[in-house]
Amino acid sequence: MHGYDDVRTASRALATEAVHAGRDDLARQGLHAPPIDLSTTYPSYDSRGEAARIDAFATTGAEPDGPPVYGRLGNPTVARFETALARLEGTEAAVAFASGMAALTAVLLVRASMGLRHVVAVRPLYGCSDHLLTAGLLGSEVTWTDPAGIADALRPDTGLVMVESPANPTLAEVDLRAVAHACGSVPLLADNTFATPVLQRPAEHGARLVLHSATKYLGGHGDVMAGVVACDEEFAGRLRQIRFATGGVLHPLAGYLLLRGLSTLPVRVRAASETAAELARRLTADLRVSRVHYPRIGGAMIAFEVDGDPHEVIAGVRLITPAVSLGSVDTLIQHPASISHRIVDADDRRGAGVSDRLLRMSVGLEDVEDLWADLAGALGTAAHPPRGAGNCATSHNEPAAASRA
Ligand SMILES: *Cc1c(COP(=O)(O)O)cnc(C)c1O
Repeated sequence: MHGYDDVRTASRALATEAVHAGRDDLARQGLHAPPIDLSTTYPSYDSRGEAARIDAFATTGAEPDGPPVYGRLGNPTVARFETALARLEGTEAAVAFASGMAALTAVLLVRASMGLRHVVAVRPLYGCSDHLLTAGLLGSEVTWTDPAGIADALRPDTGLVMVESPANPTLAEVDLRAVAHACGSVPLLADNTFATPVLQRPAEHGARLVLHSATKYLGGHGDVMAGVVACDEEFAGRLRQIRFATGGVLHPLAGYLLLRGLSTLPVRVRAASETAAELARRLTADLRVSRVHYPRIGGAMIAFEVDGDPHEVIAGVRLITPAVSLGSVDTLIQHPASISHRIVDADDRRGAGVSDRLLRMSVGLEDVEDLWADLAGALGTAAHPPRGAGNCATSHNEPAAASRA
């Protein structure tokens, strides 16, 4: 029925990996739910052995055999989530961090520590990612380009090429395979937060690094902040060494919640995407909406531009949650120019296609008719400011042709 149901990892389908990866040892241990290991330190009477394990970590960044020495070197509960996410993304490894921004920071530090401080990036990116690069907070220097300009923008000190697809907040898509080709030997980082591995697995298209704000769909319930990078074992080792030295570790309870979130990820993404596609059709047919952005690969995110005042749409929703962030079970709406991309210079923001009339909506698991009634009511408020709250009733438009960005 859905193409992405058929995506298979090496041996098991994605839906199967989602509930079993990172848990394969549990039944043999007589456990069902994964244990949460809250230890910050791990006792050992063999300090010579500990020294050897620390030396090995300093050399390769490989996870120490046996229990970790100290919580900043690794955590068994977090490792379960990392194993599972790597399986879903089809990579050798994954390294988890305290937030998506901590994960991106670690990637930039890995490259900067090798003297490769130049980054080539395609706008739009998530507002804070844009800010981190533009402000040069970590000593990096960025060249912004479009996908066709990547090859020409590369320099001997280029350490990273960064793209988002679909991008936050416009849902613009790039051809990951073509971009990876243009990068040559420079690692391509694809932020896969919006698509999730259910819809797209960038490593299969040549991205060496796959970044997630796990705060969004992977956690999926708006109650855990996390970031993760899925990649090959060599890069993962460097990321673990940076994590050890800089301390942006994920809390074990967050690791547990993320592993639990992954188990329903395919079901959540599929259900929310169906609703989002239908809402995108209705918005496209609505005369109060001037433009709808909905990605070719689908997904649960919609961006749209209104003729009226976007602030009034935010003020007018009653069921939909007016909040930044995305990927939760409830539908969220926000105004990127005011919130998620506020920190980006206004001209750069508009140049990246983030108009002041753009709204970004993360579609959740509510009933589509309830969502449409709320949205249509809020659009009515925006189009006619004096209308009272009693005018929310709306007729449902017939679905129009599928919209395209
Ligand atoms: C939210 C987000 C981030 C940042 O993640 P945090 O977990 O908030 O630090 C990075 N990229 C994208 C696409 C995002 O939506």
